[in-house]
Amino acid sequence: MTDNSQQATFTSLGLVSTLVERLQELEYSQPTPIQSDAIPHILEGRDLVGGANTGSGKTAAFALPLLQKILEQDAMQTRRGNFVSHLVLVPTRELASQVAYSIKSYSYHLRDKLKTVAVFGGVSVNPQMLALRGGSDIIVATPGRLLDLVSSNAIKLDQVKTLVLDEADRMLSLGFTEELNKILALLPANKQTLLFSATFPEKVTNLAQNLLKDPVDIQLQSADASTLVQRVFSVNKGQKTAVLAHLIKQHQWRQTLIFVNAKNGCNHLAQKLSKRGITAAVFHGDQGQGARTRVLEEFKSGEIQVLIATDIAARGLDIEKLPVVINFDLPRSPADYMHRIGRSGRAGEVGLGISLIDYDDYHHFKVIEKKNKFKLEREQVEGFEVEDDQSEAYFLPMKPRAKPAGTGKKKKKRNQ
Ligand code: AMP
Repeated sequence: MTDNSQQATFTSLGLVSTLVERLQELEYSQPTPIQSDAIPHILEGRDLVGGANTGSGKTAAFALPLLQKILEQDAMQTRRGNFVSHLVLVPTRELASQVAYSIKSYSYHLRDKLKTVAVFGGVSVNPQMLALRGGSDIIVATPGRLLDLVSSNAIKLDQVKTLVLDEADRMLSLGFTEELNKILALLPANKQTLLFSATFPEKVTNLAQNLLKDPVDIQLQSADASTLVQRVFSVNKGQKTAVLAHLIKQHQWRQTLIFVNAKNGCNHLAQKLSKRGITAAVFHGDQGQGARTRVLEEFKSGEIQVLIATDIAARGLDIEKLPVVINFDLPRSPADYMHRIGRSGRAGEVGLGISLIDYDDYHHFKVIEKKNKFKLEREQVEGFEVEDDQSEAYFLPMKPRAKPAGTGKKKKKRNQ
C-alpha cells in the first residue's frame, strides 16, 4: 500500500472539485484504500491490476479517474460517430446496469457533458442502439451484446482509450475467452488497461500479464480488514433444507440470500422451503430479464425477504446492508465463495456468510479454505447435531472413507 491510503482526501488524489463535491453529496467522506491507491496511478495513465475485498469501493476507484480524464479531454469535442472512448466489461447484465448507474451518479452534475451507456443482453437492442448514436464516453457492457452491436455497426471500438475488466478473473475465465478475444482484437493496441476484482487466482494473473503494459499491481485483499463474519455448519446428509428453514425462522433476518449451484436447484429449494412455511423468490439465468430485474429490485427494497440464486448473483451486486448470505450448495470455485459471501458486509457494514456442509462437502470446503487462506471452526446447529460426528473428519488427515450409497462423485453440470 502506498502512503496515499493514510490520510488521503479525494482532492489530494487529484480529483477535480466537481467530482469531489458530488462525492460529498453521496456521503463518501474519504477514499477507501483501493481508491487512494489506484486513482493517482490511473490518472497518470498507468495500466493497473487492483485487488481488494468485495464491497470496498472498486467501482469508484476506476470510474472517478475515467470521468476526470473525459472532462480533461473535453468530451463534447471528441464524441462522434458511433465511437466509444472508455469501455468497461462486466460478466452479468445486472452488474452492467449497476456499474453504469454508479458512473451516472458520480457524474450527475456533468450529465450534459458526459454520456454513459449500459449495454447488455436479455432486453430489446433498439433503445441501446439509439443511445449509442453520436458516440459515447463510457460504455458498460456484457461481452455478448457488445459484439452483437459491433456486428450491426451500432458501435465502433477502434477509438477506445481505456479498457476496464471488472470482475477481471471472471472475465478472463474460460466461459468468456472466445468473446473477450474477439473484443480485444477490435481494440487499439495503444490503450490503458485496468483489471479489478476481489480474487485473482494465479492462472488468471498469468493470463492478465499479456494484456497489460508495465502494470501497477495493488493487492489489498485482507481477512482482517473485512467486517464479514464467516461460519460453517456441519449438517447431516439430507437435512440441509431443514437446517436452512430453522436458521431463517430462528434469526428472522431482514433479508437472506441463498446460493445454490443450478437453476432447477433454485426452484426445488423454493418449493421445499414453501412447504416449511417460508416464501422465497428465485433468481437465475432461465428467467426473462424483466423477471430478473424485478426480483432483484424487490429483494433490494426488502419486499422479498428470501432469495435463492445461482452464481449470476455472486459477482459485484451491491445490496445495501444485506445481513446474511448462505451457501446451501458450495460453489465449485474457491474464488466464487469469496464473491458470494461478499454480497454481505459491504462498504464496512457488518455481514455474515454461512455455509452448510454435509459429508460430501467436507473435503471441498477444506480446499475453499486453503485457497482463500482462512480456517473456520465447524459448528453444529442445536437440534440438528451431526450423527457419528462426521465433522471430526475435518481434523483428521484425509483418508478414503466408505460413502453412503448413492453419494459417489458425480460431475455436476454447470447450470446457472
Ligand atoms: P463497490 O465495491 O464499488 O461495489 O462499492 C461498494 C459500496 O461502497 C457501494 O455501495 C458504494 O456506494 C460504497 N462506496 C464506495 N466508495 C465509498 C467511499 N469512499 N465512501 C463511502 N462509501 C463508498
